Order: sequence, then C-alpha cells, then structure tokens
Amino acid sequence: MGLLNDKFAIVTGAASKNGLGKSTAKLFAEQGATVAILDLDQAAAEAAAAELGAQHVGLACNVTDKEGCFSAVQKLMETWGQIDILVNNAGITQPLKMMEIEPKNYDAVLDVNLRGTLYMTQAVIPHMRERKSGSIVNISSVSAQRGGGIFGGPHYSAAKAGVLGLTKASARELAPDNVRVNAVCPGFIATDITAGKLTPEMMETILAGIPMARAGEARDVAGCCLFLASDLSAYVTGSEVDVNGGSLIH
Ligand code: NAD
Repeated sequence: MGLLNDKFAIVTGAASKNGLGKSTAKLFAEQGATVAILDLDQAAAEAAAAELGAQHVGLACNVTDKEGCFSAVQKLMETWGQIDILVNNAGITQPLKMMEIEPKNYDAVLDVNLRGTLYMTQAVIPHMRERKSGSIVNISSVSAQRGGGIFGGPHYSAAKAGVLGLTKASARELAPDNVRVNAVCPGFIATDITAGKLTPEMMETILAGIPMARAGEARDVAGCCLFLASDLSAYVTGSEVDVNGGSLIH
C-alpha cells in the first residue's frame, strides 16, 4: 500500500540526474503517485519521467515564465483531471560575495527560486481550491535560516528566505480550502548543484560543521517531501522542516 496511491504530483526541476527533485519524483512514484517532471529541457524531462515508468510525464517548463507554468498545469489537468501535489524544487545558486552580485545575478537567482515558486503555486491554486485538497512543498535552504549556507551568496539566501515567507503566507491564505503549504530546508546535500565545485579543504570545513559528519543524500530530502506531500502530515501547514544533519539546530 503506497502512501501516495491515486495521487497526481508535479515536481519542478526534477530532470537533474542526481538532484533532489528526481529523487523525490522517484520516491513518490514508488509510493503509488503518478508524477510529472517539469524542467527546462523537454527531452531531459521526458527521459527522467520514462525512468520512473510509462505513466509518468515529462514536460518542458521554465518556472520563471508565468504563461509556461499555467500551460503546463493546463496540459496535465487535461490528461489527469486532478493535481494533488506540487513540489517547487527548481532552483539555482551562485557562489558570490555581496559586492559581486550584479543585477543579472540577482534576477537569475531570485527569478528561478522565488518567482518560479510563486508562479507554479498560482498555476495549481484554482484547481486545488476547487477540490478543497492539495499539498504544496517548497524547497528552501538552511542558507535562508542561518544567513548563508555552504555555497550560495547573499542573493541566494534572500531568495530562499523569500520562499519561507511565501510558504507561510500562502499556507495561511490557503488553509481554509484545505490546501497545505510547507517548506523543506536542506543543509548540505551531495547533488550536481555543488558537484566538482568544492575543494577538499572546503569539504573538510563543511563536514566539521555537520554533527552527523556526512553530507546529506537526495533521498534524505525526498523522504521529508513524501511526509509533507502525503496524508501523514494532514494537520501540518506553514512549517519548515530541516534536513541538515544537525548543522543548524535552532
Ligand atoms: P540540481 O542543480 O541538481 O537541480 C536543479 C534543477 O532545476 C535542474 O534540473 C535544472 O535544470 C532545474 N532548473 C533550473 N532552472 C529552472 C527553471 N527556470 N525552470 C525549471 N527548472 C529549472 O540542484 P539540486 O541540488 O537538486 O537542488 C534542488 C533544489 O534544492 C534547489 O531549489 C536548491 O536550491 C535546493 N537546495 C539544494 C541543496 C543542496 O545541497 N543540494 C541545499 C539546499 C537547497
């Protein structure tokens, strides 16, 4: 018996081979959900969906494009007739210091992480409200909570802190319609977002700051997304769940 039997789920940014989105999509599928993988490249999204099984869907969608978000959701509604779960996972980061942030850096990082989360949420809300049912999971970061994580600059922290504010405000607004909205704050998780970009010295410093003394794995984040997406968390909304091996205990 799967925790997500008969559920239909969207995971954005889920085509990345070793990413949190893909791992989450895989776990959702294992738990009985039908999943749509949305990512920038159509072929990559389709290939990632095909890996999960024939019923899953891959769609090209740039989350910074409002019309693109709405048309992807429209397409899925035509095929599925319902959407139960949205995971706003698409994100980018940049290792810049305060004075290095140019307007184009600010725009890129804020747009994908924050604007994209808003647009995708707006795209599913009318339908979820109508059915009086839905769970939205937003991927924030420890970087939002402690003022910088491992890699991302202040604009990334700001974007992910924005995601926390958006999560809480949308949770409050949507709760009367039984649509739950929660955030997950991963710490250092080994994915392509930092792969090959950290020196051995940086790795040593990072691990010294993690009481569990290991990097997180994508599946560690996927498990929390599953909890928040499923009815196990039926009375949980507006929360932020830390997945950081103890690197920030607050
Ligand atoms: P990743 O780089 O492996 O995957 C990110 C995916 O997002 C890629 O497939 C990329 O194509 C997609 N994407 C980028 N811009 C997009 C856009 N405009 N529209 C649609 N898709 C887009 O990264 P990851 O480590 O799996 O990160 C997933 C999420 O988790 C991100 O939001 C990231 O900020 C967050 N996060 C990661 C860590 C970590 O340590 N890996 C820690 C905290 C938070």
